[in-house]
Amino acid sequence: MIIAIDGPAAAGKGTLARRLADEFGFAYLDTGALYRAVGLSVLRAGGNPADAGAAEVASATLDLALLSDPDLRAEDTGNAASKVAALPVVRSNLLDFQRNFAASPPGGAAGTVLDGRDIGTVVCPDADVKFFVTASAEVRAKRRFRELEERGIEPDFRVILADVRERDERDMNRKDAPLRPAEDALLLDTSNLDIDAVFLRAAALVRESLSPQ
Ligand code: C5P
Repeated sequence: MIIAIDGPAAAGKGTLARRLADEFGFAYLDTGALYRAVGLSVLRAGGNPADAGAAEVASATLDLALLSDPDLRAEDTGNAASKVAALPVVRSNLLDFQRNFAASPPGGAAGTVLDGRDIGTVVCPDADVKFFVTASAEVRAKRRFRELEERGIEPDFRVILADVRERDERDMNRKDAPLRPAEDALLLDTSNLDIDAVFLRAAALVRESLSPQ
């Protein structure tokens, strides 16, 4: 079984994906981390993430060690990721990795959960269950703000909100694989729902799909 979870930054996709993977014993792939690794690799080499040449090399020779790099979650890395993600060559270089993971999950798991921006629309259009997880930009910026505070950083809320909006804008308006819900995705708005409620709804749908009545 393949579960596709898409949605904008900080909507709660990762938390939902991890909980579903735990619940059903499925393998989990955070596809945003792949784009982040490419962005980070370009930044580290002193390149411009919007430059196709540098991003093409970084995505063709993806350094998987970067997936556990402490800077992977930094705001700058997220921004660089959304720039390299707008380049068709980068998307196509990362496509096989994602599809192979979905087709043959590590450890022979019975299913996979992939989260990102285009899983239900491009990477796995035939996924068994699709979710589109979203929340208002303000709610998402508040979540990001709290996360950063917990990590001992003193963030500026206005900067974070502007960043969230800028990333939404770029992810939704790019030509190749823009962020949008698949037609058959269940929409989950987490602005006023806590993660437990979101998880219960999503898990019920997965159970139904595993053993239809
Ligand atoms: O989800 P996360 O914030 O880690 O993703 C970083 C960036 O990677 C996103 O802003 C988006 O531009 C890009 N991305 C993408 N397609 C995916 C996953 C992430 O374009 N499937």
